[in-house]
Amino acid sequence: MTAILAASFGLDGFRGQPPIRLRDDPLLRRQEARESNARSYPRRIPLALTEARGIYVRDSAGQLFIDCLAGAGTLALGHNHPDVVAAIRATLDSGLPLHTLDLTTPVKDAFVEELFAALPPAFARDARIQFCGPTGADGIEAAMKLARTATGRRTVVGFSGGYHGMTQGTLAIMGNLAPKRPLGGGTGDVHMLPYPYDYRCPFGLGGEAGVDAGLALLDQLLSDPESGIVTPAAVVVEVVQGEGGVVPAPLRWLQGLRRLTRAHGVPLVFDEVQTGLGRTGRLFAFEHAGIEPDVLVLSKAIGGSLPLSVVVYRAELDCWAPGAHAGTFRGNQLAMAAGMATLRRIRADRLDEHAAVLGARLTAHLRAIQVDHPCLGDVRGPGLMIGVEIVDEHRPPSRTGARPADGELARSLQRQCLERGVILELGGRHGAVVRFLPPLIVEAAEVDEIAERFRAALRAALAERASGAVPTGLAAE
Ligand code: PLP
Repeated sequence: MTAILAASFGLDGFRGQPPIRLRDDPLLRRQEARESNARSYPRRIPLALTEARGIYVRDSAGQLFIDCLAGAGTLALGHNHPDVVAAIRATLDSGLPLHTLDLTTPVKDAFVEELFAALPPAFARDARIQFCGPTGADGIEAAMKLARTATGRRTVVGFSGGYHGMTQGTLAIMGNLAPKRPLGGGTGDVHMLPYPYDYRCPFGLGGEAGVDAGLALLDQLLSDPESGIVTPAAVVVEVVQGEGGVVPAPLRWLQGLRRLTRAHGVPLVFDEVQTGLGRTGRLFAFEHAGIEPDVLVLSKAIGGSLPLSVVVYRAELDCWAPGAHAGTFRGNQLAMAAGMATLRRIRADRLDEHAAVLGARLTAHLRAIQVDHPCLGDVRGPGLMIGVEIVDEHRPPSRTGARPADGELARSLQRQCLERGVILELGGRHGAVVRFLPPLIVEAAEVDEIAERFRAALRAALAERASGAVPTGLAAE
């Protein structure tokens, strides 16, 4: 039945299908009954998925959706890319042990070579790699331990709006207070600084003046013998904040951060768990600023849709003891094979450049929609990591022109997009930033379609609000 009704994968099939209906499904009902209250995505994306290819996923009713969530930015090549599937099959057929702890294999060796070839040569030349328990959070935990061990210091500097995972250690440097509050505020010796969020400048300045203020504060904290903060073991930062609402750090701020951390002997850790491998229009987001980190954490795309996480760092920091960061599942051979295939395809097809071009196209569409819709307060990139900050246009702006965030309208808009076949996620303060993270293989016609559906969804969300209808099924997280 489903197979007969199912639209064929691709834009024609997507366009040709009847209007989407979000149905009551026994799988969803059982999920709700059985799974933890901590479950998150199904609350706002109530789909039971059965099949996926490229940028499309199919639900149990045979309906196609465009996936602009893509495993929270994991699926650089989209779902079930032929290269990834072939690499996994070949590894299975080869009889390779699938679980090896951190023992080496030809697949692991080739993965490391491929990754090091993709890194800026000056960084790769003198780098070491640590395989981690296969989550981004474990990679960040490892990076903090590495830096603390190497420097003999304790304090780690994190930034407001930062997201680095959900373990106790990574929560300590998280901006969002909601998951920290029930735990008493987080653990560890950390110091949080304002992130250079231009649209909502923490100093109330914005632009170049905001960048200068952020750098001056950092300089003062590191230089002033009475700053109250001992020299930190590390500064951990996202080059573009993802979950925090797609907030790109200005390049001059990044360059200043690099200069100051180097001058004070503080290891700089770039969390490129979400930005890594082409998403922002460069293979690594730090390349936009022409700088390099001391420690680089990668996960998500690096496993080609399977769990994998690594820390790559300057050899000089490699002074932790054997076994200092262990973990049973560091030897996921299928993930290494899938990750290597992904990396090869991204580099061969210059999907980083493709992401820059297609991202600019989508951003231009969204800015055109913004002209007639002041509730789109800010549209920002880079590459295929795009955020649209939804604001309440009827409330007065701040000194720098930003109106208050409107999370309720954002949730309604997300739902309207879903009902038009486009899966999007929210992030940022009050969940008011609509996030576009499509696979890097998305094509121009698909980007145009996404933007058109978004425009229609926005009109519907605004009409719903004007009619006073209370949005349903939009459970807050
Ligand atoms: N760091 C960043 C920048 C992330 O976006 C995420 C997850 O979204 C993490 C770390 C944590 O990764 P994981 O969920 O695999 O622990």
